[in-house]
Amino acid sequence: MIKNIAELYGRQIDEMMIDPNLLKSNLIKKYFPIEINNNHIHCKRCGQDSNRIDITLPNDNYYCPICINLGRVTFKNRLCYLDEPNDFKKPNKILTWEGKLTKLQNTCSKNIINVFNQNKKHLLWAVTGAGKTEMLFKGIEDAIKQNKRICIASPRVDVCNELFPRIKVAFKNTDIILLHGRQDEDYRYTQITVCTTHQLLRFYHAFDVLIIDEVDSFPYVSDPGLHFAAQNACKRIASLLYLTATPSDDLIKLVNQNKLSISYLPLRFHQHLLPEINNKLIGNWRLKLNKEKLPFQLVALINKKINNNQRFLLFVPRVKDLKPLSDLLKIKFNAQLWETVHSTDDDRIKKVQKMRDEKILFLITTTILERGVTFPGIDVIVLGAEDDIFSTSALVQIAGRVGRKNDRPFGEVIFLINHYTRTIKKAVKQIKYMNKLGRKLL
Ligand SMILES: [Zn+2]
Repeated sequence: MIKNIAELYGRQIDEMMIDPNLLKSNLIKKYFPIEINNNHIHCKRCGQDSNRIDITLPNDNYYCPICINLGRVTFKNRLCYLDEPNDFKKPNKILTWEGKLTKLQNTCSKNIINVFNQNKKHLLWAVTGAGKTEMLFKGIEDAIKQNKRICIASPRVDVCNELFPRIKVAFKNTDIILLHGRQDEDYRYTQITVCTTHQLLRFYHAFDVLIIDEVDSFPYVSDPGLHFAAQNACKRIASLLYLTATPSDDLIKLVNQNKLSISYLPLRFHQHLLPEINNKLIGNWRLKLNKEKLPFQLVALINKKINNNQRFLLFVPRVKDLKPLSDLLKIKFNAQLWETVHSTDDDRIKKVQKMRDEKILFLITTTILERGVTFPGIDVIVLGAEDDIFSTSALVQIAGRVGRKNDRPFGEVIFLINHYTRTIKKAVKQIKYMNKLGRKLL
């Protein structure tokens, strides 16, 4: 139950969630979030339409099924909001980060300050391992100086969890909150918000600066309701910065239509190029596994890595591929050398930690480890990169696990494939394109 009026600044909250005494305040604005148009209903929270028949509640009531995981909005309940007043105290020292940017990061950082000052919509295409977060700090500092309200959102909870402590350390004297569905901290009004893109559905014209990190990842990339929520969470005059290592075709289209400005960071923080993808055709590998045989190219490759004591990740498309592959490998190799891991694996964290602690040489994994993880000095093998579970952005991210550290800025990325796909070709092309831009800067 909301009792403090500040908790409504720039938010849109169901009237049932608000203390009745507070609700009497004539400062609070209210609207009905659901409109009925013939056979459809339109939800103003997520901007999406639904079929009326599917969503009827008793007593001529309707709800929006699309944004329901953030609480149900119905035809009969109003959403309440209050204008964002930017009621913040300015700290004496804003930026408490003491690191240094590379020359290239510095150029990008200045660019970001301009984007924020000019209230632009901008795409920063920075390769995996470029050090994007640090480049934001000066821009955020400048925005705080101007009393702006700032949000850093990402579709992925793990990205939010990883960003939050880093932002906190960089802005020790500014109040910051982390919001996502898997955490219990109560909402409070803060100058900086770190949240999942889903949480943006609860904001209304709140932010002067909205940064969306890993904008190419699921579910944001394919969810028009979240795109709507992002626009709606921004003030009418605001800046929106998209960060990605692998922009979607839609974003590139906006750039080409001059609706979005763009800048590039084609070199990693250690000033090296991205490892490029090496494709090897190996025929129908899944058929072989079904016949309890391993593709000899895979055996040779793993054998080489074991002999060289070279750590690596072996990606497979599906959870169902893990066990047969692992069982067959056990016949040839010492089973202590690896673990298999997937998203619903109860021991997921433990197994990833074993890899971190170098207790095993490799992990056989699904796309859960495609991004957000860094294991120093690893190589990557993808078995079956042609499977449609791998998007272009997933393949680029997987390749981007290699060569992230200064002491081994290179490494091997091998895709063992049955056939080439458009997705694979696009991933190869994206990496080559960034390297072409990067070479000019070396
Ligand atoms: Zn909705």
